[in-house]
Amino acid sequence: MAPKQSSPVIERLAIIGAGLIGSSIARATKARGLAKTVVVTDHSPTVRERVRALGFADEVPDAAAEAVVDADLIILCAPVGANGDIAREIGAWLKPGSIVSDVGSVKSAVIAAVQPALPASVHFVPAHPVAGTEYSGPDAGFAELFENRWCILAPPEGEDQAAVAVVQEFWTRIGSNVEIMTPAHHDLVLAITSHVPHLIAYNIVGTAADLETVTQSEVIKFSAGGFRDFTRIAASDPTMWRDVFLNNKEAVLEMLGRFNEDLAALQRMIRWGDGDGLFELFTRTRAIRRGIIEQGQETPAADFGRRASTPDKAQ
Ligand code: NAP
Repeated sequence: MAPKQSSPVIERLAIIGAGLIGSSIARATKARGLAKTVVVTDHSPTVRERVRALGFADEVPDAAAEAVVDADLIILCAPVGANGDIAREIGAWLKPGSIVSDVGSVKSAVIAAVQPALPASVHFVPAHPVAGTEYSGPDAGFAELFENRWCILAPPEGEDQAAVAVVQEFWTRIGSNVEIMTPAHHDLVLAITSHVPHLIAYNIVGTAADLETVTQSEVIKFSAGGFRDFTRIAASDPTMWRDVFLNNKEAVLEMLGRFNEDLAALQRMIRWGDGDGLFELFTRTRAIRRGIIEQGQETPAADFGRRASTPDKAQ
C-alpha cells in the first residue's frame, strides 16, 4: 500500500488518455495525495465510462479541452502518435503558468509535435516513466507501477527550471527515481534498452509463427526453452509500438545496425566453432543481468510465469 503524504504537489492534475499508464498515474496520485483534484479523460466513451466505474478520478469530462481548464499539471498519456493532435486540441484552454508533460516512450518526436501547439505562457516538461506491463487499458493500471522504477525527464533546452522541479517532485513522490537527460540522449538509450529488444521479440515470434518445418503446436508446447519470454514482450500493444518505431526511427536504425554487426559476428563464431568467443560473450552478458538485479530493477526469482500486476517490463 502506497504511503499517504500530507501536502499535495499541485492543486489540479489532468490526465489525457486513461490506459495502463494514465490510470496508474491517477491511482498513484490519489493514493499518495499528490493533487487535490484528479481529472481524467480519454477519447473513447467506453474508456471514460470504465474510468467512472473504477472510481480513481474526481472528474471525468468528455473532452480534453474541458479537462485541462484550470489544471496546474497536464499529463498526455495517449500513444505517442496522438500527442500532436491532443496538444492542438487543448492549446487554447491551458492556464498560463501551467505545466504540460507526457509519458511517451519517445521524446524528440513528441517535443517536435507538441511544442509548436502550446502557448508561450505554458511550460513543457516531457517525461518517460520507464515502467510498464504488456497489458493495456484502465483496468490494467495500478498505483504501485512506478515504485522504484526510473522516470526520465527530457525538458527542451532553456525550459523553466521551476517547472522541471515540480515535475521532478511529482514523480519522486510517486515513488520513482528521476533522471534528467536531453531528448536525443533519451531516444538513443531507450532504443537499445527497450525499442530494439521489442523489435527482436516481435521478429522472433513472427518467424516462429511463419515456420513450415516446425508446427505451431510444437512451438507452443516447447516454449519454456526461452521462446515464451519473447512472447510476453511481443504481446505488447500494437498501436503503442507502431508509434514508437515510427517516431524513433533514427536511433532505432542506428542501434539495429550495431545489433546486426554483432549478430553477424556470432554467426561466424558458430560457423567456425569458436567456443571461446561464445563462452566469453555469454560470461559478459551474465554480468549485466547481475547488475540489473543488484540495482533492484529485477528479482533473481526464476519467475518466468510472472504475475499480471508485476511491473516487470520497462519501456
Ligand atoms: P493504453 O493502455 O493503450 O492507453 C492509451 C489510452 O489513450 C487508450 O485508452 C486510448 O484509447 C487513449 N487515446 C488514444 N488516442 C487518444 C486521444 N487522441 N485522446 C485521448 N485519449 C486517447 O497505452 P499505455 O500503455 O498507457 O501507453 C500510453 C503512453 O505511455 C504511450 O505514449 C506509451 O509510449 C507510454 N508508455 C507506455 C508504457 C507501457 O509499458 N505500456 C511504459 C512507459 C510509457 P483507444 O485505445 O480507444 O484508442
